[in-house]
Amino acid sequence: MKHDERASSELLEVIELTRQFLEREKLRGLQHVVMGRETWGALEAAVQKAHGSVQRKDAAHALKQLSELAGGCTKCNLSETRTNVVFGEGNPCARLVFVGEAPGADEDRQGLPFVGKAGQLLTRIIEAIQLKRSDVYICNILKCRPPGNRTPASHEIECCIPYLMKQLEAINPPLICALGNVAAQTLLRVKSPMSRIRGRFHKFGGALLMPTYHPAALLRNPAYKKDVWEDVQIIQREYENC
Ligand code: SF4
Repeated sequence: MKHDERASSELLEVIELTRQFLEREKLRGLQHVVMGRETWGALEAAVQKAHGSVQRKDAAHALKQLSELAGGCTKCNLSETRTNVVFGEGNPCARLVFVGEAPGADEDRQGLPFVGKAGQLLTRIIEAIQLKRSDVYICNILKCRPPGNRTPASHEIECCIPYLMKQLEAINPPLICALGNVAAQTLLRVKSPMSRIRGRFHKFGGALLMPTYHPAALLRNPAYKKDVWEDVQIIQREYENC
């Protein structure tokens, strides 16, 4: 156990013991505990930090286990042609998760999501809304590359989607950005084109999901730039409040 994690779990234990002590004293007639505003504020901050650290540890552990499971996955035919499984990367407690379609050639080679030209553009988009790649989490609907970057087949999506759902469950982000038709249509279970569904949030469980164009589509068609910029600015405004 790392130093921070041990400190967090010890702090939570102290808090629990204090709570039990106060409960007992209350039964014996204790009515008031006087605590200065500064002490109260410091205690609150310490509790929040401890909880955050425990949640982070839990999410990171769940993601690691899932990643190991996906690493040996042979549930669909893509396992025969992949070089690496591209599970995803980023902050296990991200408030914003980007979901793309599937790994391309660069991602398949490196085992990391969005590292090719489209990935570099995604990094610039993230930085344009004053975030870093390490603040967010990035993954795809499919964890293995479809040969020749063809569109994922529906049976491949069906086989792979449980990994993404469990990833999202572990991270529990308030905001999701679905990049491209495949990600948006799969997550929202609709067939509508991007032009009809982008530009506003859709409910996705307890999260808000913004569909927008995939960075690869943006590279092919720079006219989408204005729409993507509008979409990510909506995300940025919501991010500041969540
Ligand atoms: S694409 Fe998904 S379901 Fe298919 S082999 Fe890869 S990890 Fe398994």
